Amino acid sequence: MALTRRKFLKMCSGLALTAGFSQVLIPEVYRALTAAAGGKPTVIWLEGMNCSGCSVSLLNSVHPDIKKVLMEIISLEFHPNLMAASGGLALSVYEDAIKNKKGEYLLIIEGSIPTKSGKYCEIGEKDGEGIPMGEWVTRLGDSAKSIIAVGQCAAYGGIPAAAGNYTGAVGVQEYLKKPVINIPGCPPHPDWMMGTISHVLLFGMPELDLYGRPKMFFGKCIHDNCERRRDYDKNKFAKHFSEEGCLYELGCKGPVTYADCPQRLWNNRVSWCVQSGAGCRGCTEPGWPDKFSPLF
Ligand code: SF4
Ligand code: SF4
Repeated sequence: MALTRRKFLKMCSGLALTAGFSQVLIPEVYRALTAAAGGKPTVIWLEGMNCSGCSVSLLNSVHPDIKKVLMEIISLEFHPNLMAASGGLALSVYEDAIKNKKGEYLLIIEGSIPTKSGKYCEIGEKDGEGIPMGEWVTRLGDSAKSIIAVGQCAAYGGIPAAAGNYTGAVGVQEYLKKPVINIPGCPPHPDWMMGTISHVLLFGMPELDLYGRPKMFFGKCIHDNCERRRDYDKNKFAKHFSEEGCLYELGCKGPVTYADCPQRLWNNRVSWCVQSGAGCRGCTEPGWPDKFSPLF
């Protein structure tokens, strides 16, 4: 049976999953994409000022299925951490996409973009001078079919844009001055990334909230779905991280954070921030981390 958008969305929010969404969905997406005409969709992954944690989150958590996705479903033509090519050969992929694949590729950006002058984040060089990351974001962004900002840094500036911000770091949307799909999180859950990429490839733009986040993953408040909510309602607050009770007085930002972590769980459905006793830090919200400081 064909994978309809309705079924896809149901699977995305089918939070009574016993396995990670990625494991459940990927075989279906694989069948749908391979059945679709037009061959493998081209994906270009551009990395700026970040820690590569978003890539690590994606690669670690859906293993081994991610290998199948990267090798067989999509044509991942540029990823700085995964590709074998380097130097001019690697950069020729960017140039080829800009010149010959206008409107055909999905651009995924990880990391924030420096806006102050200085040698902060350069990718390749031309005539002996480093090429600023922002130049690639503009050129690749102009020719892309869709742009997805992956992680808090690419979405809203993140840690590089925190107080001090020596480089003038900003997120993709602020830099390009046009709407993009934001998948925040530090790092984002692999399901959020795979689910959004799959939706764009199969059905086009997902429904977004005010901050550009796909509603299918960021439509619910953490606090409303937290297993310690009963403690909050009974004013039973933990005084130390090792105690039972709501973590609000220890700094939990669940009441003002939107994501489905309590149901989706992390690390292949082992646990999530509150369950592990740490509290939510608000990592999916614009303005993080400054707006949420002190975190604990
Ligand atoms: S631990 Fe955090 S998310 Fe859970 S009920 Fe308390 S304040 Fe809300
Ligand atoms: S619980 Fe909060 S801090 Fe933890 S991953 Fe989810 S949104 Fe981020």
